[in-house]
Amino acid sequence: PRLDHSLTIAVLAASVCLAAFGLRRRKVSGVVADGIDQCIGNTPLVKVHSLSRATGCEIYAKLELANPGGSAKDRVALAIIRKNEKNGVIKPGRGDTIFEGTSGSTGISFAMLCDSLGYKAHICLPSDTSEEKLQLLESFGAIIEKVKPASIVDPNQYVNAARRGAEVMSQDPSSTSVGVFADQFENDSNWRIHYTTTGPEIWNQLQGKLDYFVTGSGTGGTIAGCARFFKEQKRKVQVFLADPQGSGLYNRIKHGVMFDTVEKEGTRRRHQVDTVIEGIGLNRVTHNFHMGESFIDDSVRVLDEEAMKMASYLCRNDGLFLGSSSCINAVGVLKLIKEGVIPESSTVCFIACDSGNRHLSKFWLEARLYKDIELDDIITSAVHKL
Ligand code: PMP
Repeated sequence: PRLDHSLTIAVLAASVCLAAFGLRRRKVSGVVADGIDQCIGNTPLVKVHSLSRATGCEIYAKLELANPGGSAKDRVALAIIRKNEKNGVIKPGRGDTIFEGTSGSTGISFAMLCDSLGYKAHICLPSDTSEEKLQLLESFGAIIEKVKPASIVDPNQYVNAARRGAEVMSQDPSSTSVGVFADQFENDSNWRIHYTTTGPEIWNQLQGKLDYFVTGSGTGGTIAGCARFFKEQKRKVQVFLADPQGSGLYNRIKHGVMFDTVEKEGTRRRHQVDTVIEGIGLNRVTHNFHMGESFIDDSVRVLDEEAMKMASYLCRNDGLFLGSSSCINAVGVLKLIKEGVIPESSTVCFIACDSGNRHLSKFWLEARLYKDIELDDIITSAVHKL
């Protein structure tokens, strides 16, 4: 009987262990996401072998293009929705609508998330936004409002149109639903989500072995959140802004003023120069950029043509099919290394914001022509060229 008793105890102990293991396993192997929102973030960090080999540095790209909506903006859109839910402003299923003024990525992220979370997305964008982005927005069922390209001081500019749309909807006494202006440029949730997710992910993926971080600024959320996080971990991490032609941010970081020419603050970047770079570069200081400004060490100017050459080079050599802003960042890295600002053996990370898919009809139309480009022929201007 004593044997029987021990056997029972052993069997019981074994079943408890198995159950616990089973539970743990189920939890650990929880690979099934409960919705598309749960697939956002935790994007891969990939070593860019071609650039690393050629420069003697370890160069990594944070593949934000791997988010389900195709860009880092998924993080921001979800954070803005959750914050509004938490504050009791919006509720799913009653027609509440998120209004946003965006030239692309953020609108796509809202459009992807809104329907699945029980909301509507109303996207205001300039009429010269690329066809690929418009088609995506339509596929996700967003309400699209195209407005004439204009500067931010114009009341009909797309960001102002979105703000007005939300106000009109919320003030309508006959409406039971609420309109919310997402306001990615000024919304604090933007830089904070990069501070709490993108930055820590990179830091953990590199196990703290990061020396330089290079990225561009649209709203400024990515650079502000990541820079602030990195500096808090290691003061010596250096952060560089990679800025395209026509943007005043380069001068703002370099000289403390946006313009040293006849250009006016608030003017539209694409009016000043003929550029195909989308998503980054601005001629005003947004709240999100401001939140990171003191953590940015320096800036590097990158030309459209250099970015196109880099696009072709990375596609051929590393299988990285990148969008225009990602390539601006990659050129920024290469320039800083070539000019000795970043020394050999450094660990460098740049953001790969979105894939080339969204840039086929503009940026990639020309980038394709550089298919035989050599690394030494990518850079044609100096780091400090305006
Ligand atoms: N790249 C692309 C393609 C973008 O859409 C954006 C956002 N406008 C950025 C880069 C810049 O990111 P952020 O707004 O966080 O500065």
